[in-house]
Amino acid sequence: MSLLLRGGLIITQDEKRRLVSGDLLVEDGRIVAVGEADRTADEVIDCSGCAVLPGFINLHHHVANTLLRGVADDMPLEEMLPKAAAIDAKLTRRDVQIGALLGCVEMIRSGTTSFHDLFYWEDEIARAVRESGMRGFLSWVTLDEAFTTQHGSPVKNADAFVAKQKGDPLVTPSVGVQGVYSASEETYTKAKEIGERRDVRLHTHLSETRGEVEAHREKTGLRPVEWLEKIGFLGERVTAAHCVWVTMNEVRALARCGTSVAHCPVSNMKLASGGVAPVPEMIEEGVVVGLGTDSPISNNGMDVFADMKVAALLHKATRWDARVMSAQTVLDLATIQAARALHVEQEIGSIELGKRADLAVVSLKGAHTTPFYPETVIRHLVYSGRGSDVQATIVDGQILPVLGPLVVAGVAVESDVALRHMNVRDSKKLSPEKREALAPEIEKVATWELLVIPAEEIDMMRAEMSLNDFEAKLFAQLIERLHPETAYVDAADVDEIEFKRRVQRELRFAVEVVSQHNADELFPVVSAASILAKVRRDREMRAIEAEIGDTIGSGYSSDPDTITFLEKWIKKNGTLPPHTRTSWDTARRLLAESRNRKLDEFGGR
Ligand SMILES: [Zn+2]
Repeated sequence: MSLLLRGGLIITQDEKRRLVSGDLLVEDGRIVAVGEADRTADEVIDCSGCAVLPGFINLHHHVANTLLRGVADDMPLEEMLPKAAAIDAKLTRRDVQIGALLGCVEMIRSGTTSFHDLFYWEDEIARAVRESGMRGFLSWVTLDEAFTTQHGSPVKNADAFVAKQKGDPLVTPSVGVQGVYSASEETYTKAKEIGERRDVRLHTHLSETRGEVEAHREKTGLRPVEWLEKIGFLGERVTAAHCVWVTMNEVRALARCGTSVAHCPVSNMKLASGGVAPVPEMIEEGVVVGLGTDSPISNNGMDVFADMKVAALLHKATRWDARVMSAQTVLDLATIQAARALHVEQEIGSIELGKRADLAVVSLKGAHTTPFYPETVIRHLVYSGRGSDVQATIVDGQILPVLGPLVVAGVAVESDVALRHMNVRDSKKLSPEKREALAPEIEKVATWELLVIPAEEIDMMRAEMSLNDFEAKLFAQLIERLHPETAYVDAADVDEIEFKRRVQRELRFAVEVVSQHNADELFPVVSAASILAKVRRDREMRAIEAEIGDTIGSGYSSDPDTITFLEKWIKKNGTLPPHTRTSWDTARRLLAESRNRKLDEFGGR
C-alpha cells in the first residue's frame, strides 16, 4: 500500500532542518521519497497550501484521565492529586478504555502521532492505541503499595504488562514510577531492575513542586535528583517529567546520567508549581528535552500547538529575553527531540528516507495563518497554529476510514500451495488493480466467505463493545461457516492469546485457532482473505457512490473527496449521509462544525 502527499511544504526536522516544497511518498509505512516522487500511489492527499510535519510526540501524558477533565481546576497539585485519586479509585476498566480512546481521538485530530503515558491499566490504553491506530509509549506506574489504588502489586503489574506487550509495532511498554513522594528507594530499585531485565525504558515525575523538593530534603538530606542519582536510578533509560525545581548542579547530573526531561509548561503554570524549569540551561548542558502536555486534569487539552506557544512565551516572559526558546527550538522539542528522549529517533521524529511515516498535514490557509511565506512557516506553526488546522494525521502510513462498511473475509483451503504460487500478500501492500486481478484467482482455488457490516450496524455494535470484541465475533462467524480444522486469524488485540480466547469463546465447536499479529503478511490464506475483503469494500464504496450520485472518494478521513462530500451533504441536509460511521470522529466533527456555523450565522443577524 502506498500513499502520496502531493504538493505540500515539507518541514523535515532533519539534521539541517530543511524545508522542501513538493511531494512525500510512503510505501508500506515508510518514507521512500521526499521532494520529488517519480510515481503515483494507491492513495493521494492534496497538500497544497499545507505544511507536512513529523507528527507530534507528546512526551508526558496520562491519557486515561481524559474523563476527569475539569474535575480539579484552579487548585494546586497537592489538592488536585487526592481529588483525582479518589475518582481514579472508582474508575472501571471500561472508563479507562473510553477515556483513552477519547484522548486518542483528540490527539489524532490535532496532529499528535505518539504519546508517552504514565498510568496503571496501561493494557486498556494499549487497546485504545491499537484501536485508534496511534503509537503509544506506555509506562505502567509503580509506587509504594501504601499509596496505590491499583489491584495487586504495582511492581508485579508493571512487569507483567511489559512482558505481555513487548514486540508490538504500535505499543512500546515501559515501567513508570509516580515520584519520590510516593515511591521508596525499594520501589525505584525494583522498577529499574525490571527496566534492565526487560530492556525497556523508565518514566517518572521529578521535582515538580518546591514542596516535593523540600519534603524530600527533610526526609533524606538530599534533593530528589541528587537522591535518585545516589540510589542509582538515573540513567539513559529514564525520562523525567517536569524538573521545575532543579539547581544547575542537578541539571548537570541529569546531563551526566543521560536522563531526558519532559517539559510540561502548561501543567506547571496551571498548578502554580512556581518557578520555571530551566530548559535553556538543560539544552545548553546537553540534556535531551521534549514537550509534554501532562494530564487532561492539569492542562486541560492535549493540542500540542497550544503547548508549543506557551513553552516559547513562558521562558521569554520570565527572562526578559525575546530570543530565548525560539520557534524552531520549541518545534524540535515537540518532534525530533522528543523522539531522541525516547531513543526512537532512528524511526520517528523527522521526515527522512527510511523512517516510519508518522505525519501531520496542517493547513496554512486559515485567516490566522495569513499572510504566510515559506520562511515564516515554523513561526506560524508555533505562534499561530492550532490543532484544528490539522487536515490529516498519519501513523505508519495508515489513515482511518469514516465512510462505508466494514468487510471481513475468510478463505479455506486444503493446501496453500496454489495461493503461494499466486504470490498473495497483505492487501494493504498491493495496488487496487493487483487486488482486483488476484480476487477471481483466489475464488477459483479456495472456499470463501464474506461478511459486510454496514456503517449503521458498526455504530450500533460500537455502542455496546470494543472494535476488537466485535471483530472477534465476526471472525468466529466466518469460522463457523467454513468449519476448518485450523483457523488462522489476524489478531486484532495487542494480546494475541487473549484474542484467540475471545474468538474461541464465540465458537460452538472445537477448532485450533492460530492468532498472530501481521497474519495477513505471514499466512497466504489470511493474505487471500484480506484481498477479498478489500476488493469487496472498494466495490461497496462504488455502489454507495452510485446510490448517492456524487463522488465520495475512498471513505477515509484523509481523502479530500470524502471530506468535501461529507461537508457538502451536511450543509445541504443538516445530517450525516447514509453509510457514515458516526462512531468515528471525523464524521461527528463535521456535523458539529456545521451546527456551529448555523448558530454563528443566526447570532450575527
Ligand atoms: Zn504527570
